[in-house]
Amino acid sequence: MRTLSKTLSLIEDLMRLRVLMAIVIIAVPLLAAGRDYADKQLSAVDWERYQDETVKLMQDYLRVDTSNPPGNELAAAEFFHKMFDGAGIPNTIYPFAPGRADFYAILKGDGSLRPLVLLNHMDVVRADSKNWRAPPFSGEIVGGEVYGRGALDMKDEGLLQAMVMVIAAREHLPLKRDLIFLATADEEVGDSGSAWILANHPELVRHAEYLLTEGGSNLISPGRPTIYGIGVAEKAPFWIRVTATGRGGHGSIPIADSAPNRLIRALRPVVDWQPPIRLLPSVEQYFHEIARLETGRRAAEFRNIQRALQDPQFARELSQDENFEYLLHDTVSLTVLKGSEQTNVIPDTAYADLDVRLLPGNDPQAFLSQLRAVIAEDNIQLEPISSYRTPNSSSTDTGFYRAIEKVIREYDPHALVAPTLNGGYTESQMYRPLGITCYGFAPIVVTEELDATQHAANERIPVDQLRHGVKMLYELVARAAAGEP
Ligand SMILES: [Zn+2]
Repeated sequence: MRTLSKTLSLIEDLMRLRVLMAIVIIAVPLLAAGRDYADKQLSAVDWERYQDETVKLMQDYLRVDTSNPPGNELAAAEFFHKMFDGAGIPNTIYPFAPGRADFYAILKGDGSLRPLVLLNHMDVVRADSKNWRAPPFSGEIVGGEVYGRGALDMKDEGLLQAMVMVIAAREHLPLKRDLIFLATADEEVGDSGSAWILANHPELVRHAEYLLTEGGSNLISPGRPTIYGIGVAEKAPFWIRVTATGRGGHGSIPIADSAPNRLIRALRPVVDWQPPIRLLPSVEQYFHEIARLETGRRAAEFRNIQRALQDPQFARELSQDENFEYLLHDTVSLTVLKGSEQTNVIPDTAYADLDVRLLPGNDPQAFLSQLRAVIAEDNIQLEPISSYRTPNSSSTDTGFYRAIEKVIREYDPHALVAPTLNGGYTESQMYRPLGITCYGFAPIVVTEELDATQHAANERIPVDQLRHGVKMLYELVARAAAGEP
C-alpha cells in the first residue's frame, strides 16, 4: 500500500483533506436519505469537548513508557483503568507477569447482536531519543503534531478506541451488542499478552462477531484519491534454516565439497526461485479497487486480474514488481549467511536463514517439499526456526466491512477503499480461530513520510487526525452497535 504513493508535504496534504471535508459537508445532505438511527445519536454529541479531551489524553498516554522490552504495560493498564473508572465503565486489569498486564473493559448491549472487540496493544518498540525533535516519551506538540513512540503504532488507535468507549458511556449510546475494549501487552515481541488472555480468559472474547485492530493503512498521495486499506489477512512467517555439512580444514587447501561451497550451490537456485502464483479473493478485490489509479491497458488488467494473469508475460511482470509480488506468491528472502568465524578456517558447518512468508491457506509442509525439490544438493538440511501460526483471513462480505466502507465514504467521497493483505503480522491471526471476523482499520490518514516514522525516529500524529479520528471511529462503532452497515 505504502509504496503506491508518493510523498507530498504535510501542509499540502492537510489542505487537501480540508477541501475533501468541505466536499463531505456539501455531499452529506445527498446521503441523508439513507441515514438512520445511529446518525441521530451523533448529531447531539459535543465534539469540540471530546476532541480536546482526546488530544490531551493522547499526550498523557504517550508519556507512559511501555518500551518493550521490558514492556511495563501495567502502567498503561492503570492509565486506562483511571480513564474507564472516570466514565463508570466496568473494567479489569489482568496482571500476568511482573510489570505486565492486559486490560479489559465492557459496555453491555441488549444482546441481540454478538459483541464487537476493540483490540489494541499497549507496548511500543524502543526509542533512541538521539534523533527526535521532541523526546519520545514527552507527548509534546510541535508544529501541530503530537510526538511520541507509539503515536502511530498503536497508542493512537488504542486511545481512540478508549475514547469511543468513554463517549458511548457518557452519551448513553444504545447498544445491540456488547462493546469490548481489550488492551494487551507484548505484541511487539512475543504476543504473551494476547496468548495469556486466550489461554486463561477466552470467555472474554469468545462470542464476539467482529474485532477491530491495527493492520490497515490509509495514505494520502498527491493527485490521487486517498487509499484506505482495510486489513483482512496477513501472511505467515515460516522461517527456515538451510544447513550444509562437510569436511573442515585449512583455508590454504581448498575442499571442493566443503560445507560453505555446498551451501552456496544449494542456495543458488533458491534465490532465483519464485513459488507459484495463488490469487486470493481479497487480493483480486484489491486489484479491482486500485485499477482506478491506473490508466489504459493496465487499468483493464487490474480490473480483471484473474484473466490478466493467464497471460504469462503479464504474470511475470507483475510478479517482478516489488509492490505486488508478495500479494501473489509465498515469498523467500535470504537474510542470514553464516560460515566460519575465521578467514583461514574452512568450517564443517555453514547455514543460511530464509525469511519465508506464506499466503493464507498455503501449507507449510507442502512448501518445504517444494523447497527441497528446488535444492538439488546432498548433505543439506532444512529446518523451520520460527513458531508457526497458520495464516488466516476474514471475508469482506460482512455488514461490518460495509459499515467501514460507508463511514469512510461519508468522510471522503473520493476515497479508494480496498481490502489489504498484510505482509507483516498482526494479532488478528490469534483471534480469527475463535470464529471472530477481524479487520485492521484506523481512522487516521497519513502521508507516506509520516507513516514511515513507525518503529523509527520522530513518530508522531497530527492533532487534526486525532480530532477527526475520534469522531470517525465513534460513528463507525455507533453503526456497528446499531447493527447498521
Ligand atoms: Zn503495532
